[in-house]
Parts: sequence; structure tokens; C-alpha cells
Amino acid sequence: MSKTRTRFAPSPTGFIHLGNIRSALYPWAFARSTGGDFILRIEDTDLERSTQAAVDVILEGMAWLGLDHDEGPYYQMQRMDRYKAVLADMQAQGLVYPCYMSVAELDALRERQMANKEKPRYDGTWRPEPGKVLPPVPEGVQPVLRFRNPQGGVVAWDDKVKGRIEIRNDELDDLVIARPDGTPTYNFCVVVDDIDMGITHVIRGDDHVNNTPRQINIFRALGKEPPVYAHLPTVLNEQGEKMSKRNGAKPVTQYRDEGFLPDAMVNYLARLGWSHGDDEIFSREQFLQWFNLNHLGRSAAQFDEAKLRWVNAQHMKMTPDEALAPLVAQHLAKEGIVADERLPAICGLFKDRCDTTVVLAGWARAFYADVRASDADRAQHLTDAIRPAVAALAQKLAAVAAWDKAAIAAAIKEVLAAQGLKMPQLAMPVRVLVMGTPQTPSLDAVLALFSREKVIERLKTA
Ligand code: GLU
Repeated sequence: MSKTRTRFAPSPTGFIHLGNIRSALYPWAFARSTGGDFILRIEDTDLERSTQAAVDVILEGMAWLGLDHDEGPYYQMQRMDRYKAVLADMQAQGLVYPCYMSVAELDALRERQMANKEKPRYDGTWRPEPGKVLPPVPEGVQPVLRFRNPQGGVVAWDDKVKGRIEIRNDELDDLVIARPDGTPTYNFCVVVDDIDMGITHVIRGDDHVNNTPRQINIFRALGKEPPVYAHLPTVLNEQGEKMSKRNGAKPVTQYRDEGFLPDAMVNYLARLGWSHGDDEIFSREQFLQWFNLNHLGRSAAQFDEAKLRWVNAQHMKMTPDEALAPLVAQHLAKEGIVADERLPAICGLFKDRCDTTVVLAGWARAFYADVRASDADRAQHLTDAIRPAVAALAQKLAAVAAWDKAAIAAAIKEVLAAQGLKMPQLAMPVRVLVMGTPQTPSLDAVLALFSREKVIERLKTA
């Protein structure tokens, strides 16, 4: 069997969102899990709507998610000469023909068809046939080139998601594949690219299902067998609409900035239209081991931010502290905070209660910048009754020999015993003073990550 070759072919006409990037994840995973190649192709022929900024988000987003490509990025705009050469070949072989029907004539045709309750379609006026006399070529009109679609019979394929699909050729009219100025049109470029790039499996959104029979016919006209197709159902947003930039979908890179881990995103996106039994949390390696085209979901998947956060939280727990620290440091750096060698341990202590690295950075901040609890927390926890105990703790801590968790725990115990207090009665006010909030992991572990001086300084603000 030949090597698998898949591709992701985004149009850079808007910032790529999660729904789009899932169409990159599956072909990438299929290539990786079958030892094949994954090709990136930027479909930038819509000059008015394509932007470099959108290309940048595609490249950055894929790099961030680790969806590495083996070839490309190819840019369709750089392949125009190739498309024109193929067009010229096709014209020489009689596979395409010039059509001089004007826009006004096409409109009139469409109106007649609609009035007769027929499906609007090109009627083949300019399609040459043996013995047929074509109308006189109008002067000064640049023709479009139309593809001679086969007549009769069906175009069929076994879609890896949707099953067998059959379209009657009579439903397909002769597609315009070059505009009057000679520029090739979308469906034609896709086929030339998929042939030249040796694509074996096209895995893409099901908004392209209608293009597929036309593309298959062009493949065959060019003497090639079409690839295997898998058309992925739409990704819906939380409101149940098709996810799109217009209704608020975020660019993929924003999830990086909001503190999501690439492996968690891959995990979440993988499950958005594919399953492996009941497995919800898995590593990238497991995903690649398990992925195939046989368990792609058939119905639309709905984005769920709460679930994404939960998946991210699970991955944060699984991620080594040393790996989390640089990510957290990046968020801190945005606030001008320079972290230090304590950061991995801080991550270890707090990561279980965080669903993003931004939330984790929020905890870490208390170790590097001033904290101030809310007035409500101060009023509730810093009562006159407890101040003497806080002062006693500060004194004890100043005197412990070694500044470590065990010594701090012992000091706390002594103060509790001496003052006749229960742990929360002292721990809450101390947390409010030192961390700025009454809810934290175990107090001795938290304090041990501060310097002794910092703890005492903060306890003195009681
Ligand atoms: N450029 C197309 C899009 O962004 C994808 C074409 C394809 O995958 O065949 O929707």
C-alpha cells in the first residue's frame, strides 16, 4: 500500500477557530498514526478576503498545538502557472470548452428555469458535440472555460464518515473552471493540488460534500483516481449555531493566551467528532495510537467551554511541574513579574485547583507581588480576637531553626495549643494575610514556599 498523504487546506479569510482546526487535527493524526505525510496548503486565491494576519494565526496555532506538517505551506497563489498549464492541456484534449454566454443571458436562463420549476443550471449551449452547430462567437467577449461534465451515470464514493454517496451526473452542470481573465476557479485548483501533492485521503468539513462529485469528475478527466474522502460534521458553538468568526468564535491562538495546554486542546478537539470507547482523557501518544477513520462521529459536535476547561484541568494535573512553570512564567511576565526557582514547586502545590495556567499564574502572583485580601475577607477573618495568635505565630516563625514545612507545621501547632485554637481559626487569617484569600492548600506547605521574612512581614499587616 502506498504511503498515506493527507492535507489541511485552510482559506486564510478569517482567524482560524476551533471548528476549523479540528479539520487539521484529524488529517494530521491520520498521517502520523499511519506513518504518512501531512501537507499544509494555504488556499489564498480569494484575494479580497485573504490576509497575512489570518495566515499567521494558522501557522502559529498549528505550531502551538504541535500539528507539524511534512510539506508546505504551499500557497495556491504561487501555483497559478501550474493551474494554467493544466487548463491549457485540458483545453487541448477537449476536456474543457469556452463558453460565451453573458451574465444577462445566464440570468435570463435561470429565470426561465425557475419559472418552469426546474433546478437552475447551465444548459450546455456552448458545449461542443459531434454534429452540433455552436452559436456564432460574439465579438469582444472573453469566454469562461467550462468543464465537460460526464453525462449520464452517477458519481459515487464511500465517504469514511457519511457512507456511500451517489450523485447523478445529470444533476451536475458544466462547471466554470476558468474565469474570463483566465484565472482558475476553486474546485479546479483543489483537484490539481490534490493530484500534484499525491493526496491519498481528503479529510475536511462537510461543507465541501457538494463539491466532491464535481471534483471526482475532474480527477477522472485528468486520468487520476480520486482519494478517499472523509467529510466531518460541523462543529456547533454553545448556542447550537455553526461555529464561525461572525458569531464570536475565538481565534485558536487565544486559547493559548487564556492558559490552555496544547495536549488538552488536542484531547478536547479529538473528542469533538471522534471517540475511542468511553475514554475522555488521553495523551497525544494514546490519541495517535488509537486514531483511525472508522470512529468518526456522524452528527454535529457541540463546543462546550466547561468541558474544555475540565479536560484542561485534568491535563494540568498530569503535566510535570517543571513543564508547567515556563507557561505560568509567561503569564506572569505579561504583568512584569519575573519568577524564580520556586515556581515549579508553586505549580505543584496549586495546579490541582486550577483549570488553566492563567488561573495558576493568579496563585503564583502572590509569591512575587503584593497581595491585598478583599475588605470582606479581612473583616471576617482578621478579628481582634485572633490578632494575638497571629502575632504569636509571627514570633514563633521568626525563631524556628530551619525554614521548612516540618518546622513551620510544628510552630503552628505550638501556637494553636498555647492559644487554645483549632487549625482553621488561625489558618484562615494567616492565609488572608499571606496569600490574600482564605482558601489555599495546606498552610505549612504554602508558607514554606515564601521566605521567612516575607511571611513575617505579611503577618505584621494584621
Ligand atoms: N479551503 C477550503 C476551506 O477552507 C478547504 C478545501 C478542502 O479541504 O478541500 O474550507
